[in-house]
Amino acid sequence: MSLAKLFSVSSRVRATGASSLVLRHAQYSTPSDGGKTEMVYPPNLPGYKYVNAEDPNMSMKEMSNRAAQTLFWTELARGFAVTLAHIFKEPATINYPFEKGPLSPRFRGEHALRRYPSGEERCIACKLCEAICPAQAITIEAEERKDGSRRTTRYDIDMTKCIYCGFCQEACPVDAIVEGPNFEFSTETHEELLYNKEKLLSNGDKWESEIATNIRADHLYR
Ligand code: SF4
Ligand code: SF4
Repeated sequence: MSLAKLFSVSSRVRATGASSLVLRHAQYSTPSDGGKTEMVYPPNLPGYKYVNAEDPNMSMKEMSNRAAQTLFWTELARGFAVTLAHIFKEPATINYPFEKGPLSPRFRGEHALRRYPSGEERCIACKLCEAICPAQAITIEAEERKDGSRRTTRYDIDMTKCIYCGFCQEACPVDAIVEGPNFEFSTETHEELLYNKEKLLSNGDKWESEIATNIRADHLYR
């Protein structure tokens, strides 16, 4: 038997179960009698769905459809149609900054530290956000208060290191650190983007109603 020859890389995705598993593996063909190609791998696993592009249908109808699409550039015409529909449906240009586009409740903008309605800061200085931050942009120092509660004495975020991944807000057990809806915080100097606790708390005070609305809107997925 001749050597099996690697000819394509395929993937299969587990179609069932909560944890989707992606398997990446190779397909092999074995030239057998008469040069016929035989698929020897992967086996047909139950519960997995083939997600690669299928071989094109070679029926006369499908072949003539593909030929007509190529010949008459139908993709181009359909692309134009979509563009025209978009232009006439809604204005393509927003008159920024007087008009702004809609933002998702999950939009990850400028960071803010939130307070409870009593005015007490939410952060309990657990440092989970600092630990999970992949950019190591967060620096926290903490100490115990006289009443026994634990609070930060320093909470800095280097916004020029931040990659806006949102891990800090996902890790926070009390929804204290959040990425709010504000995306207009460009500055002229690097130093202005080194946020301290005071700046973050003032951001929280300024954006609290929008942040609370966004958290409520997304609560089913949190
Ligand atoms: S958004 Fe990501 S990179 Fe930025 S401070 Fe939070 S965890 Fe760090
Ligand atoms: S912001 Fe949240 S995660 Fe970070 S230290 Fe405070 S309570 Fe912990």
